[in-house]
Amino acid sequence: MKSYPESMLNLMRELGRMPGVGQKSAERLAHYVLALPHDDAMQLATAIQNVKQNVSHCSICCNIGETDPCHICKDHRRDHKKVCVVEQPKDLFTIEKAGFYEGVYHVLFGHIDPLDNVEPEDINIDKLVDRARNNGIQEVIIATNPNLEGDVTAMYILEQLEPLGVKVTQLARGMPSGSYLEYANSAVIADAIHGRKSIQKD
Ligand code: ZN
Repeated sequence: MKSYPESMLNLMRELGRMPGVGQKSAERLAHYVLALPHDDAMQLATAIQNVKQNVSHCSICCNIGETDPCHICKDHRRDHKKVCVVEQPKDLFTIEKAGFYEGVYHVLFGHIDPLDNVEPEDINIDKLVDRARNNGIQEVIIATNPNLEGDVTAMYILEQLEPLGVKVTQLARGMPSGSYLEYANSAVIADAIHGRKSIQKD
């Protein structure tokens, strides 16, 4: 490693900080970047720059977008009284891709995980409760992942929203328990939304 030029080592360090990229992969990727034609490499650098400059969080639903409010919150054809709560933007994109959900969203950016010190105030739950309180939301559809953390998060949201008289439902569990929304196909998601049920306290 030591024999690499400082710039290469630096690039490997930065790449190695990415999720799922170990030292070996970082080394391989750095060589890939080095071997790129100049214009292609600059395109990659510009893409990173643009994402940081242009993409921000929607002040209503917390989703990522290039406008605030995001294009979904701005869309008057959608049902703004129905809010689907997801853990991550990629879950929202999966549901959008399925192409039949007509409500709006709320993106938590995580789930409650006491073992990992993620408390309710660390994710966007307060903002959801504010929305429910002030914007006349009738139904909140919880689409957190069907695993322990997702269920703990769903239960906490139910406790916060129930006193406000908001109907809280949860996606039907067509998906095998523990599977992630992002891997579900459109038909499974359609069934899960159509079959949603009022959430049960256990
Ligand atoms: Zn939005």
